Amino acid sequence: MTVHSRAAALVLGMCALGLGTWEFPKAQAEPPRLLVMIVADQLRADYIDRYEHRWRGGIRTLLDEGASFTEAAYSYLNTATCAGHATIATGALPRTHGIALNRWWDREAQRAVTCTDDPDSPHVSYGEPVEFGNSGKRMLVPTLADTLRARPNGARVVSLSLKGRSAIPLAGRGGDVVTWFDESGRAFVTSRAYAEAPHEIVRAFIARDRAEADLGQVWTLQDREDTYQHPDLGIGEQPKAGWDALFPHPLAGVDGADAQYFDRWQKSPFSDRYLARMAAALVDGLELGQRQATDYLAVSFSALDLLGHDFGPDSREVEDLLLQLDATIGTLLQRLDALVGRDRYVVALTADHGAAPTPEQIGGGRIANEDLRQVVELALIGVWGPPGDVPYVAWVGSGSVYFAAGVYDRVRADRAALDAVTRALMAVPGMMRVLRAEEISDASPDPIVRAAAAGYVAGRTADLLLVPQRNWVIELRAEQEATTHGTHYDYDRRVPILLRGAGIRPGRYSGAVTPADIAPTLAALAGVALPNADGRVLTEAVQ
Ligand SMILES: [Zn+2]
Repeated sequence: MTVHSRAAALVLGMCALGLGTWEFPKAQAEPPRLLVMIVADQLRADYIDRYEHRWRGGIRTLLDEGASFTEAAYSYLNTATCAGHATIATGALPRTHGIALNRWWDREAQRAVTCTDDPDSPHVSYGEPVEFGNSGKRMLVPTLADTLRARPNGARVVSLSLKGRSAIPLAGRGGDVVTWFDESGRAFVTSRAYAEAPHEIVRAFIARDRAEADLGQVWTLQDREDTYQHPDLGIGEQPKAGWDALFPHPLAGVDGADAQYFDRWQKSPFSDRYLARMAAALVDGLELGQRQATDYLAVSFSALDLLGHDFGPDSREVEDLLLQLDATIGTLLQRLDALVGRDRYVVALTADHGAAPTPEQIGGGRIANEDLRQVVELALIGVWGPPGDVPYVAWVGSGSVYFAAGVYDRVRADRAALDAVTRALMAVPGMMRVLRAEEISDASPDPIVRAAAAGYVAGRTADLLLVPQRNWVIELRAEQEATTHGTHYDYDRRVPILLRGAGIRPGRYSGAVTPADIAPTLAALAGVALPNADGRVLTEAVQ
């Protein structure tokens, strides 16, 4: 049975049992009133086991009362935030939903674009005016939230994060409240894609609960110091904005609630707690889950990723942030239990990607995108001489090499040029593979090529995809971050999937599943199908 027909069969099966149709049935168990998608950005699967004895908040609740998939992993190469969130939200792989990376080279526009930037959807700010705009228009298929909104008794949709590239794909093309934090404006924003004007409930929340109010707070350890597994001063830590590598970490600016303050705030447990309070206020104010409909709430907690990039996964900072995030999610679940009713909603917790170990701690290393650009440019200059008006290489990011218009066709037609480029790249310390766009195929016997195919988006994916050796990272500029992500290695691909609530059968499940299976599963519980999904309904965990 194909993935799609299996999903359809489950929906049909549930309809036959009167468990869920497009019209809510009168008797029997009702579909959940609210679907809750919680994403913890950069939450590696192994954290769940590593701190098993320390969870006592939301993660404890989900482990004890829910379904836990212990072998969940992304199937594609480009493990990045926007791609992950789009996969979680649509049940589709990047090859289908179109979000190849956080940023890519737009060959038509001849510029690098982000996965959400959209000048036609200007920002609507909850603080000072913020330039530019964002929307979900680059997503090629509808999300679960889009599908729920399109029903006759349409869902109310709320999606929140510090990052636009998380809140936007989790929602899709529309939604009642889709809000994220804009660093340049130091303000929460939405865009015209979602609202013509600030939403009154968000405005009122921000007026009484300001992000600036944490100024002067100090991030201290939640638990006794001798309970921490990781040392405070770790090799390779890259604290930013005036922080040092040691606790405590004050939430201070140079001059009040300035850029430095907000950088620190976003990397602290305080911003996670803030997002959770905003989410609870919106569930309350918009009465999510309290009508004869299935509403949708998504919250993507960003602090773990922002902090993880600076301190690495084996740092005391990440360890403590996780413990505090567990408590924050616990508080949010308690609020949802009270507002919606424990058995009336279903919640999924997962991550958009993991992270590599800090290379210096494990004998790995770093490759800088900017160096790669130069390596390729010089290789072609060596064969062809200097370029004309524009360099041969248009853009390199996340190990993706885009040539200027027409150049890659010339490279492919010129054996000497192709060899020179490949040889030069393979001579870069830490390089493992150079994948050429034309050899990327679903049918390949090579698992790395198949992973590249799952993430391949025609027109958007680069000409060359570079794969580092294990424990090596490809980053923007060398020595800037402790670590990053974006490969097919288990530390980047493996994430938790925890489900709990209406219709979920508790237990531990060890089958190979992916975060693309979450949206089809929640959709089936709500009685809708996702025709574009690549994932399947996790029937083993559905009652
Ligand atoms: Zn990241």
